[in-house]
Amino acid sequence: MTEVTDELREIYEDAFRWYDPKRSVPAIAVTFYPYVGINHTIRIRDGKILVKIGEICRDMPRPCHKGLAYILVGKLLRKKIPAGAREVYSAFSKSEAVRLRAAESKRTRGRKVVTSSKGSVYDLDEMFGSLNRKYFADAIPKPVLTWSARKTYRILGHHDAAHGHITISKSLDSPSVPRYVVEYVVFHEMLHIHHPTRHVNGRRYNHTAAFRRDERKFAFYEQAETWIERNVRRLKREAAETRGRAIE
Ligand SMILES: [Zn+2]
Repeated sequence: MTEVTDELREIYEDAFRWYDPKRSVPAIAVTFYPYVGINHTIRIRDGKILVKIGEICRDMPRPCHKGLAYILVGKLLRKKIPAGAREVYSAFSKSEAVRLRAAESKRTRGRKVVTSSKGSVYDLDEMFGSLNRKYFADAIPKPVLTWSARKTYRILGHHDAAHGHITISKSLDSPSVPRYVVEYVVFHEMLHIHHPTRHVNGRRYNHTAAFRRDERKFAFYEQAETWIERNVRRLKREAAETRGRAIE
């Protein structure tokens, strides 16, 4: 799945060169991914660098992509990340987070939202119960689980810690989506309850190393990741059919 321009790959190559001018630049693959919220990953596999950028940042201006590249590559190489990179990227991610919250409250404000954990295909309460038993020894307190009112594709799941809600994208309540994919997204949101947000020096950490380690304990981790990656376009197309505003 390569749908990313050479331009973006070049930005990452530049970042590698900047941090380590003596070393030859490794092969790099950059893809977009419908992460839950604003989230990105970089890892190395068989000498190749795999960068996954949250779908929500696809249309980010070039300087912000550059900032993000220096952050991700710096983290991977364990180098000191230039302050300018953080500034230019966080200016974008903060405004995007604000925009997301605004869209969410606009959608729910002023009308009664009738939602249910029981979708037309999958039952989230039942799914939560079996995941809780299997992975958490029933230790996770049960949140309110609902399907989103509309088919979002940029965000497949969301955990609202303040209200104890987990929302799963309606786009996943479909017979064409394997059960392990829906379970994986629910499992991810349950991990947010298990690993509450950590605040260190005014920064928020949601996906800590411990979180990522636990995420890999999901029995169909690789299959779910692969399925989501391969079905981005289809989810998007389906979502576009029911989409009113641009944000979802
Ligand atoms: Zn998350």
